[in-house]
Amino acid sequence: MNDIGKVIDRFDDYSPYEDIDMQKKSDGIKDDLVNHICPHLLFCPECKRETIIYIKEK
Ligand SMILES: [Zn+2]
Repeated sequence: MNDIGKVIDRFDDYSPYEDIDMQKKSDGIKDDLVNHICPHLLFCPECKRETIIYIKEK
């Protein structure tokens, strides 16, 4: 599985300059801001499927 980046980076509506905490409030993923988790997309080249994993922020 390849980590292809943060889920919020895939939202076209939000510029990369927008505050990341504001994006987290808008991404529809519950409690990622409060719990300091960062949803990332993984892509498996064999299955051609995407999976979301949650990476704990430091
Ligand atoms: Zn796979």
